[in-house]
Amino acid sequence: MAIEQKFPYHSIAAEEALEKLRTKPEGLTEEEAQRRLQEYGPNELTGKEGINPVLLFLKQFKDFLILVLVLAAGVAWYADQMVDVYVILGVILFNAVLGFLQEYRAERAIQALKKMLKQEAKVLRNGQVKTVEAQELVPGDIIQLEEGDSVPADARLLRGKNLQTVEASLTGESLPIEKKPEPLEEKTNLGDKTNMLWKGTHVARGTATAVVAATGGNTELGKISKSLGEIQTTSTNFRKKTERLGKQMAVIAVITSVIVFVLGYFVRDYAFEEVLLVTVATLVSSIPEGLPAVISIVLAIGAKRMASQNAIIREFTATEMLGSVSVILTDKTGTLTKSILTVRNVFLGDGSELEVSGTGYAVEGDLTQDQRSIALADNPVLRKLLLIANVCNNANLGEVKAKEEGAEPEVSGDPTEVALLVLSKKALAKEKDLLPNVQVVDDLPFNADQKYRATLVEQDRRREVYVVGAPEKVLKLSNRILTKEGPQELSQELRERVQAKNDEWADAAMRVLALAYREAESSTDTVGTDAVHDLVWVGITGIVDPPRQGVLEAIQDCKSAGIRVMMVTGDHKKTGAAIAREVGILDGSPKGNEPQALQEDELDVSEQEFERMVNGVSVFTRVSPNTKLRIAEHLQNKGHLIAMTGDGVNDAPALKRADVGIAMGIRGTDVAKDASQIVLSDDNFATIVRAVREGRIVFQNVRQTSFFLLTTNFAAVAVFIVAIAIGWPFPLTATQILWVNLVTDGVMELGLATERGHGDIMRHKPVPRDANILDRSVVPYILLMSIVMLGLALSVFAYYLPQGEQLARTAVFIVVAMTQVFNTFNMRSLEYSVFQIGLFSNKYVNLAFLASLVLQLGVIYTPLLSGVFRFEELPLPDLLILIVLSSSVVWVAEIYKWLIHRRRT
Ligand code: ADP
Ligand code: MG
Repeated sequence: MAIEQKFPYHSIAAEEALEKLRTKPEGLTEEEAQRRLQEYGPNELTGKEGINPVLLFLKQFKDFLILVLVLAAGVAWYADQMVDVYVILGVILFNAVLGFLQEYRAERAIQALKKMLKQEAKVLRNGQVKTVEAQELVPGDIIQLEEGDSVPADARLLRGKNLQTVEASLTGESLPIEKKPEPLEEKTNLGDKTNMLWKGTHVARGTATAVVAATGGNTELGKISKSLGEIQTTSTNFRKKTERLGKQMAVIAVITSVIVFVLGYFVRDYAFEEVLLVTVATLVSSIPEGLPAVISIVLAIGAKRMASQNAIIREFTATEMLGSVSVILTDKTGTLTKSILTVRNVFLGDGSELEVSGTGYAVEGDLTQDQRSIALADNPVLRKLLLIANVCNNANLGEVKAKEEGAEPEVSGDPTEVALLVLSKKALAKEKDLLPNVQVVDDLPFNADQKYRATLVEQDRRREVYVVGAPEKVLKLSNRILTKEGPQELSQELRERVQAKNDEWADAAMRVLALAYREAESSTDTVGTDAVHDLVWVGITGIVDPPRQGVLEAIQDCKSAGIRVMMVTGDHKKTGAAIAREVGILDGSPKGNEPQALQEDELDVSEQEFERMVNGVSVFTRVSPNTKLRIAEHLQNKGHLIAMTGDGVNDAPALKRADVGIAMGIRGTDVAKDASQIVLSDDNFATIVRAVREGRIVFQNVRQTSFFLLTTNFAAVAVFIVAIAIGWPFPLTATQILWVNLVTDGVMELGLATERGHGDIMRHKPVPRDANILDRSVVPYILLMSIVMLGLALSVFAYYLPQGEQLARTAVFIVVAMTQVFNTFNMRSLEYSVFQIGLFSNKYVNLAFLASLVLQLGVIYTPLLSGVFRFEELPLPDLLILIVLSSSVVWVAEIYKWLIHRRRT
């Protein structure tokens, strides 16, 4: 009999739920899980993913521009120009196909990226904790959750500890809801089922063990996911920019075609139908109908390149925003540093200082004092410290896979806790029965606001609370200190002594942790923050966490790219400042009295003063997530576009607030990832900088592609305006204009979309956040293109006109088409010579060049087509000469670029 996924599991006791789901507290067997996966299907929501090609194709016709084209076809039909009607219909179709192909490619890229962000879940199988992909969960699986996890399936709670979840995504309730395993009335509202956990919600606090009751489409989320539809798309900065760009180009298009009409009809008296047809054709060709598709392909290419460099994009427009980032707010541990923490020093309550050898997480090393090994047996203070390090700890050391010396075991858990665990194991390896048998009764995990963790333990029927945390916090909560003779009063003098040691180590870039304990009543069986007071101070450990390779260089790159890097860390001020100095965020010694680093309690100042600090200081330490948010807001009010990293639950608001939220892929919680636009799969700061570079390339390519469209279209219309003004016949027919526009725009812009970055893209200031895509730098290129195309087209027209209009138009067609095609080479970089960046370095441009050439010439030299388009065969030498002449657009641009360059140096 199948398992009932729809059963009201909230109304029965936890044990009954296990029974009904035919599972046990130690979980399913692997075989049973596989079988159930077959039977109930994967735990995923269907319907949302997958591209519907038909819909995507139909979408191409929904465009305003298609309306204009249909209108044009109507005009042609009215004018009894059936060939034009067919050509325009052909244009509509071709445009739709091209748009479809581009968007299809972009969609596929999005899908591929989504696949890279797989959600994982911790599950008990056969009594062993295993990490599996969330899709592989089946009803009856026992899952474990902790702070920051997203719930992978609907589940009945078995055990919870301080458990709170946020169900805003499902019920709209934004406040955390407390969860308890006790059974409830059968008729309970979804939002009140406090013993159930729902797929798609988050654990805000605490830990949980639960049994999966429903998966995939049977979950509450699955039931409503169809009505939810698409994930909301906010109007981002970039979207505003591209909308503005579209409008600007449309305005230019309308104005120029109105000029064509007025000149042709009112000034020059051409036949109404003819003028109308040509006007519509120029309008159609100067409206950038391909732009939206090109922009999505530019973004898709950018996102793909970023992904290959370990920055996975969750929201497409973030690719472009990265290019405008002017401040990066980064955390320290793991992003700037390797996050392989090793305890180097121990300073005990009795005043003795020890050194610990060994590197990384390898459990190989000695504890020495003045270079002599120490006997643990007669050192009760050290034994206590090692015990706390070992027990007040949630990390795990796995097997050592490699055989060689210094090989590191596989680890899981918080690196700080791993470091302490390794420390205790180093001692244990020497003296097996060092640690007495202690039982963990309850555990309070580390939290970035309280800055310590605590464990309630029982040993020989006595209960104690062990605490590990930031030294100032623990020192404040301590009133005694452990010495060889037992606990003593923690005098002011002793406080100052440990404080001095703490400062000394922090100055040496070490992360310092304090360890302490306290007796507890035997009746207490839970531990909360209220149990942490009147502690007995045991000692501190100094932990090293070396900077990552490449971070120093990446920060230099940021500086030369005009990007300010700020460190925002929970660590000690001196540790933060020391690491900041090592990686180059701070350079040199402090100037005057200006502080280089600040800590949270120094930030309790007026808003004005705070603003001054944020502007001048780049290292903020001991900060709470709230202060992160405050710093971000101040910078944004100053007009900065900020990127911010984060990993914890509490970072989510700041990540959301930042223009570009960046979550850590390895260390980060699901909540942080969901609040971010970018996930770093290697947690590395240098990756952010590489992504910024790609972001700048995205902006560059959008700009260059739209400049290409604008310059070529503008020049082509200019040819018309001048020809009509002179009183000549139309230099091209409507069909011919449409064809040039279609082939050059559609094909060449695809090539431009794939351009790479050149030279000093990271030596410019960031593009201001509200900079228009279209700006003044297009003007010289418009002039240049117009002058060359106008000059050539008009002289050629004048030259061939005596031999007949049809031949003259053919010649103009070649010139107009080829100058546009050659212009692509100019637009590969607005600054550098195309020979400098490599004529052949963009193979798509070269392919597009060949394709356009074939299409343009094909239409002239294929008898059938040339008849339709009313072309006349041009002698080959003439053709070659015209092509060579058209290439002058490149030479003129090269001279312009060279002049610009010379003026600058
Ligand atoms: P960071 O910005 O370096 O990641 P955190 O917010 O993680 O800073 O940590 C802040 C401080 O809290 C650390 O300097 C340390 O003193 C303490 N701390 C960090 N992690 C733990 C932990 N797992 N257990 C106990 N204390 C911790
Ligand atoms: Mg941390």
